[in-house]
Amino acid sequence: MTAISAPYPNKRITVLGSTGSVGCSTLDLVARARAAEGEDVFPIEALTAHSNVGALIEQARTFRPALAVIVEEALLDDLRAGLEGTGIQTAAGADALVEAAQRPADWVMAAIVGAAGLAPTYAAIERGVEVALANKECLVCAGELVLAAARRSGATLLPVDSEHNAIFQVLEQDNRASVEKIILTASGGPFRTLALEDMAHVTPAQAVVHPNWTMGKKISVDSATMMNKGLEVIEAHYLFGFSADEIEVLIHPQSVIHSMVAYRDGSVLAQLGSPDMRTPIAHTLAWPRRMAAPSERLDLAKLGELTFEAPDETRFPALRLARNSLQIGGGAPTILNAANEAAVTAFLGGQIGFLDIPRVVEGALDRMNNGRGVADLAALEDVFALDSQAREQAKQLMTA
Ligand code: NAD
Ligand code: MG
Repeated sequence: MTAISAPYPNKRITVLGSTGSVGCSTLDLVARARAAEGEDVFPIEALTAHSNVGALIEQARTFRPALAVIVEEALLDDLRAGLEGTGIQTAAGADALVEAAQRPADWVMAAIVGAAGLAPTYAAIERGVEVALANKECLVCAGELVLAAARRSGATLLPVDSEHNAIFQVLEQDNRASVEKIILTASGGPFRTLALEDMAHVTPAQAVVHPNWTMGKKISVDSATMMNKGLEVIEAHYLFGFSADEIEVLIHPQSVIHSMVAYRDGSVLAQLGSPDMRTPIAHTLAWPRRMAAPSERLDLAKLGELTFEAPDETRFPALRLARNSLQIGGGAPTILNAANEAAVTAFLGGQIGFLDIPRVVEGALDRMNNGRGVADLAALEDVFALDSQAREQAKQLMTA
């Protein structure tokens, strides 16, 4: 880390999934910090993308990483051609992705979507550095392994998900035993008030339009089914150590209060902000200090009111499925996550309906006896194997 005049540490960084929604928000903060403090702020070791080679080339030309990785091997020639003469190294494939995560960086943003991010995120954690975790599916499918790796290496997991970042900010570590519960807020998604029978007919185009946040397609569909909040309950369990009944979900359509911690003296501490991922990302990037982020400032007088309601697990069964999976433990969350990924992909591809998503997830969990009887997930390979089996079950349920 080199010294800079700014009141936050100048970290060498890597962004896994740099072309996605969270990846682009991260690089936007880097661009602003460099414009304010100088071009040597947040030097970049590696940027990685799955297949959007055009965006990766543009980012690499702007941000000058040491390495740019494209997962889709057929696109390596394009990447090379696009970066010719820049001196930026290029590579392709799944192994290159893991190698990118292993290269020397002080801070790694894990912003790949889905279990596909597990291997590189795990590799970064094994290096014992700061890992800014947006990729919640990693914790859902391999929570114990990820935590054990962090304990061994001394890595610091910095929560990026807005709810978990909020809790990270207001959880008094010294008073951990005085916490009664944590309260994860949820916008309720685009179908918050829609009747169950009408949900059967919603289209992918309607499901990906989130009322408050602009995000990748997968998390947008998860927000519409509320599986996202279910995954976040599991994520909160692993990040902060609370049990399923100490984690409450509260619908808050304005997405201003990002989450809360309730203490035994009756105090409830909340973190507020406009719904813009650059705030939680900036919190992790400058951690343990603070840096500027351009997120719209809250004008509470203009907002006038904040509203809250209880979640409806009848219309949003994904919440119940996730909570059950957490309570069962073992392989259940891995199955839940994998079946959900398969179902969301099929929904986005027009192969199944919206209400089929929780149906397929529940079916896969049932067929696999909620992971009971599955041997311990002792290594990443065990997680990958269970993940594949769950995707296969989901596929069978979708073609039945
Ligand atoms: P996105 O779809 O916009 O971007 C995903 C990124 O991952 C892209 O760079 C893509 O190239 C890369 N990627 C996709 N598949 C890959 C694969 N198989 N191998 C390697 N790389 C791959 O997603 P996003 O909305 O930025 O979300 C990223 C993660 O952050 C998700 O886990 C999501 O749940 C979490 N998250 C996102 C937001 C948000 O506001 N977007 C908020 C909270 C948490
Ligand atoms: Mg969230």
